[in-house]
Amino acid sequence: MFRPALVLLLLPLAAQADGLSAGAYAMDVTPKKFPVSVNGGFSDVQAAAAHDPLHARCLVLDDGQTKLAIAVVDSCMIPRELVADAKARAKKLTGIPADRILISATHTHYAPTVAGVFQSEPDADYVRYLAEKVAAGIAAAHDRRAPARIGFGRARDETNVFIRRWKREHAFIPADPFGNTTDRVQMNPGHQAKGLVESAAVPDPEICLVSVQTRAGKPLALLANYSLHYVGGNPALSADYFGAFADRVKQLVAAGETDFVGIMSNGTSGDVNNINFAGAAIKAGPGERIKVVADSVAKKAAEACAAIEYRSDVTLAAATTELALGVRKPTTADLDRARKILNEQKGKPSLTGSAAVYARESTLLAKYPDTVPVTIQALRIGDIGIAAIPCEVFAEIGLQIKKTSPLKNTFTIELANGYNGYLPTPAQHALGGYETWRARSSYLEVGASDKILPAVAEVLGKVK
Ligand SMILES: [Zn+2]
Repeated sequence: MFRPALVLLLLPLAAQADGLSAGAYAMDVTPKKFPVSVNGGFSDVQAAAAHDPLHARCLVLDDGQTKLAIAVVDSCMIPRELVADAKARAKKLTGIPADRILISATHTHYAPTVAGVFQSEPDADYVRYLAEKVAAGIAAAHDRRAPARIGFGRARDETNVFIRRWKREHAFIPADPFGNTTDRVQMNPGHQAKGLVESAAVPDPEICLVSVQTRAGKPLALLANYSLHYVGGNPALSADYFGAFADRVKQLVAAGETDFVGIMSNGTSGDVNNINFAGAAIKAGPGERIKVVADSVAKKAAEACAAIEYRSDVTLAAATTELALGVRKPTTADLDRARKILNEQKGKPSLTGSAAVYARESTLLAKYPDTVPVTIQALRIGDIGIAAIPCEVFAEIGLQIKKTSPLKNTFTIELANGYNGYLPTPAQHALGGYETWRARSSYLEVGASDKILPAVAEVLGKVK
């Protein structure tokens, strides 16, 4: 009589004793239809071909009780509607619920527009195609699950991260697009430009590594995280250094392993690029810097991988919370000024000058609701914590999360599960500069980070 009950009770234990299984897959998401709009600048770019392929790099982990999926997509930013569609499709294919799936954009500036920003508008066909492909990539990773072991590593690369916002003598800082001269910092001021004082913060040079192998030690996937906006220099379409890193790290840690998937997720790089404005400009041909940066970061990652200790008895967890954050909307006076500027360019096929581009952004932001939902997620893989924020997060916020996390090894993936623009701290807002200028690329309330940080602490606490 007791026997059947006993068997039932033992089933979950047996599954757990089996330990971790994992699968990875790099799904090609390069569009089939050209030309295609490319966002990332004030003006739209139309790409006629792909310089190198775009991917959704997917990793599925399963501890026998809980499954997690991570998809890092070669895109500039992915709006929450597209994320929701991709997650719903992935759930249908794998059974993994939306809150256990993390979908992020690498922030390559050479991918098809899927979020309308400045003068680029998405192509509805590609938006649907990308959702389907991301879901199919997660399903393919899910199908490939095999007994696995996992470990965490960290390295540093100080040579490729610099704060791009510089404090500068006031006389040298141009007026902002709203006609104000209140900015105290300037983004990308130019090499050794006159009046430079100091960069406005410190970057995070850490490379975090989640390495996944078969039980026998064959490399399956490496999820890396580095806080660098992007590099640039390739013609669109391109996966920028994110794709180049994936290729290079594969050569270094998994040569000959055709199924291995290298993944570079974006950390907290809202104010970080790879240009040292304190020094002279580095001369480089098209695409050269991408290769140099990818090689440097991949070599440091590979060195750290050699020291990683693996285990298969890890448990997984996920938690999500939703905030309603205020939108910095234009005032009536702002809108009057904006309409006047736009009237001067009436009939032109595209707007010229940042004043007009931001004037249009003001009219579009006026239609936004007063608050927007912002999804904050945490994943736990053993003693590794991953915080996911749908913004271009300033480096100091990521450093704060690492310092205060209740988990031993924590990093943040930005531009995850939606797109809510830049996330400066209130103190950085006070300094002004591009990342704070009100537009669809920067619209959350000034105090947003003071609400997001406790929300991150809450979800990290939950998964712990
Ligand atoms: Zn950006």
